[in-house]
Amino acid sequence: MRTLDLRSDTVTRPTDAMREAIAKAEVGDDVYGEDPTVNALQARAAALLGKEAALFVPSGSMGNQASLRTLTRPGDVVLAGEHAHILRYEGGAPSALWGVHVKTIGDGGLFDADDVRRAIGPDDAHVAPTTVLTVENTHNFAGGRVFALDALREAANAARDCGLGLHLDGARLFNAVVATGVSASDWAAPFDSVTFCLSKGLGAPVGSVVCGDAARIRAVHRARKLLGGAMRQAGLLAAAGLHALDHHVERLADDHANARRLADGLTALGIRVDPAPETNMVMFEVDSAAAFARGLAARSVLINPIAPGRFRAVTHLDVTAEDIEDLLGRVGEIVREIRS
Ligand SMILES: *Cc1c(COP(=O)(O)O)cnc(C)c1O
Repeated sequence: MRTLDLRSDTVTRPTDAMREAIAKAEVGDDVYGEDPTVNALQARAAALLGKEAALFVPSGSMGNQASLRTLTRPGDVVLAGEHAHILRYEGGAPSALWGVHVKTIGDGGLFDADDVRRAIGPDDAHVAPTTVLTVENTHNFAGGRVFALDALREAANAARDCGLGLHLDGARLFNAVVATGVSASDWAAPFDSVTFCLSKGLGAPVGSVVCGDAARIRAVHRARKLLGGAMRQAGLLAAAGLHALDHHVERLADDHANARRLADGLTALGIRVDPAPETNMVMFEVDSAAAFARGLAARSVLINPIAPGRFRAVTHLDVTAEDIEDLLGRVGEIVREIRS
């Protein structure tokens, strides 16, 4: 039985065309600023996001943390939606590296302007200063949900009015772009720094990009050095990123359609899907979670549990519509097996 791997959109392997782009890449030493392919990727990313400059980094976590470094001082409070990646999945970096704490606001990853205003303490010598608002879009743990653009703008304005810096963790920004038709530059406009991943739904093997104004990106560049993230002939990786931006953005719509197909099929099998997928993630709940997980393993299906009784399936470049039908057939067997 072919393994169906829906653990994450990070499990994709480079396509033959992407490997060809990698093989042909012109490279140089990027520490000297001499890698033409890295420079091209950075220029392309900055233009796409409507920012002055961009910096290629090895991971989204490094992009987020290098950005936070430039926006905070030790003792600061950083606001983020619940279950934010920067808080849960980056090794405790905000406190371990920069001495800042993260305070979560809103519900399930999304929030509004009032949540932002309420979270900011008075400007008083006794109160920890809140200096940054971060937004995750799409929101991973919330099930790939897209932040409503109006709510995002209002929250960003509220933060600005209170003097906060703004960072967008756009690991899956292009999923939000394709799901809504709102451009990457419109999504990025309110923010000082924006990270997006090439290695998620876009299907590149490695890499993320941070975008911002020129001064911000100079500061992020310093922070990348501090974190050991300077790379040499990184054009090999940047070539994959450029190829992904050329060929793998519009096709994210296929992943979103496959997620809806999967959600509909699971619902038809009596499985609770919540929320309805907006992008490439399907969150669902089953009663007999242990038996369900054993059934998945026995049928070579890889789907991660993310909370007791709750699973997250992620569609991506290496999952076709036929794979979804195949998967639903296997899940149907598991459901019948558990019932009998
Ligand atoms: C994957 C991800 C990142 C970055 O992860 P890396 O594995 O460090 O590239 C950041 N934010 C979100 C929401 C993510 O899903």
